[in-house]
This record gives sequence, C-alpha cells and structure tokens, in this order.
Amino acid sequence: MTQVYNFSAGPAVLPRDVLLQAQQELLDWHGSGMSVMEMSHRGKEFMSIIHEAETDLRQLMGIPANYKVLFLQGGALSQFAMVPLNLLGDKKSIDVVNTGHWSKLAIKEARKFAEVNIVASSEDRQYTYVPDPASWRTSPDAAYLHYVSNETIGGVQFPYIPDSTVPLVCDMSSDILSRAVDVSRFGLIFAGAQKNIGPSGLTLVIVREDLLGQLPAHMPTMYDYRVHADADSMYNTPPTYAIYIAGLVFKWLKQQGGVPGMASRNEEKAGLLYHAIDSSQGFYHCPVETPFRSRMNVPFRLGSPELEAAFLAEAEQRNLLQLKGHRSVGGMRASIYNAMPLEGVKTLASFMVDFARRHG
Ligand SMILES: *Cc1c(COP(=O)(O)O)cnc(C)c1O
Repeated sequence: MTQVYNFSAGPAVLPRDVLLQAQQELLDWHGSGMSVMEMSHRGKEFMSIIHEAETDLRQLMGIPANYKVLFLQGGALSQFAMVPLNLLGDKKSIDVVNTGHWSKLAIKEARKFAEVNIVASSEDRQYTYVPDPASWRTSPDAAYLHYVSNETIGGVQFPYIPDSTVPLVCDMSSDILSRAVDVSRFGLIFAGAQKNIGPSGLTLVIVREDLLGQLPAHMPTMYDYRVHADADSMYNTPPTYAIYIAGLVFKWLKQQGGVPGMASRNEEKAGLLYHAIDSSQGFYHCPVETPFRSRMNVPFRLGSPELEAAFLAEAEQRNLLQLKGHRSVGGMRASIYNAMPLEGVKTLASFMVDFARRHG
C-alpha cells in the first residue's frame, strides 16, 4: 500500500492502528460472528461498545458527573440550531464571538431563533486573530455565549477558555481532545466527529444537566437534548459504526498518553510547520497573528497563484495530499489533527524547505 500523508481538514486522517483493528474486526466483532454494522443497537454487544466509548471519553476529558454525553447525528451544523432551540429558554438573546467562517454560520442559523448579539468580531482584520475579551460587549441577559475554539478554515485558535457569567457554549469540532480543557467551565460543548474523533455523521454533545429540558413543545422530538439524554443516545438508532470507530480512537488516545500526551505532540507538530514558514524569509506566509495560530490547521500562502499551484502539484507527487486551502480563502492549509503522525509533518516541513530552496 502507498504510504501517503493526508492533510485533509475533514473528514480527516484516522489512526492507522484504529483502521487496522476495524479491518480485523469487520466481519466478526469479538467472536460474536457479526459485524458491528449488523448489530442491534440495543443488543448487549453494541451496548458494551457505546458504554465503553462514553467511559473512555469521560476519562480522557475529565467530564464531571453532572454532564451528559450525547452521541447524536446531523453534524456540527445541526447543533447551530439545536443549541439555541434548547438553551434559549425564556431568554430572548444570545451572545456570539465572531472569529470566522464557522462563527458566521452559527450566527446566521441562530438568528432564526434568537436575537444574536455579536460581542466582538475579528472581521476588521480578515479573521486573523481573537479579539481581546476585555473589549467584548457581552450582555448579562444572554441565554449563553457561543464561540468557536478553533476556526478550522482561518486557522485561528483560542489560546484560553474565555470567562463568562452566562453558560459558555463551544463549537469544538476541530480541536476537541487535542489539548486539555476544563469541561466544568462550559455549559455545552459540541463537535462533529470527522476531524478529531472518527467518521462523519456522528456528532458529540457534552451538556451540563441543568441546561436540559427547555425545548418548546412544538419542536421536533429529534431536536430535544432531553429526549436523547433520557434515552442514553438510543431514542432512535444512533450511528453505530461511527460510535464504534470513535470508541477505538478513544482507546488509541489513552495509549498515546491521553490528552496531555496528544497536546505536547500537537505543539511539536505545529511548531515544525510554523518554523518552516517563519524561517523561509517571506517565501511562505501565515496570515494568522502569532498568539492565535492554530495547532490543528496551519494555513499558508506563497507569492503567486502559479507558485501555489506548483507547490500543490509537487506535494501530491510526494504523496502529501489534500493541502489545498478552503475554497473561500485559497492558498494552502495543512490540517494536522491528533491522528497525523509526527513523521508526516516532518516530511511536509522538509518538503517546504526544499521547495523554497528550488523556487525562491
Ligand atoms: C467542520 C466544522 C463544522 C461543520 O461540521 P459538520 O459536521 O459538517 O456540520 C462546524 N464547525 C467547525 C469548527 C468545524 O470545523
């Protein structure tokens, strides 16, 4: 099999050991004679899979007992509606920090259900930084404060968890499990699975119990957190195979030293790429201001569209794949989630140095 390094922003690379184990267990999970895909979600085999996945996730993230873990579907985008629907209660407005693409989409969707107060925006400098919390115009009556811990397209990451007097809601789709977070600071965390957890479709919600149960009665049952929480994510058929793969990823993470182990490796990986950019004497350029540079998604530009096209073509010849930036911003983007091996990042960094020498 060709060894490639896949820098896709999502769906993204999965740990090779996880895929190998899934392959070995594909036809016969643990002597059951069944594939996980063929099992009843209410049978004892699958119940043990989802239970272990939740237990491992709780351990990895240190999730307190008064938080529910929900394994849902519909992607992060359906959370852009579910969160306001469930958390608005008798409030009228929500607060949102606008740091880029995924903030903007969340704002647009939330406006269907609530008054949206944009407490701060980094649009003035093309979403290349996180506005200083001291300048945020928050409102004490907001139902919650929403922010995106890592803007996957812009490559802008919060270096801290902001303080909030109202429940804090975080779209952690692209950096969940990549660094330690104190879950007790949040009211709700959600994440689409396809960046750092597993196959697309699965959507994780971690929610403080006292925030459940405020959905207006005429709303769709499937959009009610309380319904899913009361049914242990089994109100309807959950995405069973995706949950199984996520469970394998959680076990793999534990073997890698858990979240702290991952965090230090992520620092090292990102450091290699930012060093290649910053030491290139302007050949490469990262638009993001240094304190907010993402450890997960590293965007960079070259001097001309021709040079960028040549870079992508040569990279692909060397099996460094999916480095093209998002269509809305262009340029390059290397996504280096937990499952991207250090070796892959080293290979990319040395290719960057070599390419700059030949084309600089
Ligand atoms: C990828 C991504 C989304 C969109 O997720 P879907 O699962 O496609 O709905 C939302 N927010 C962030 C931060 C993302 O990285």
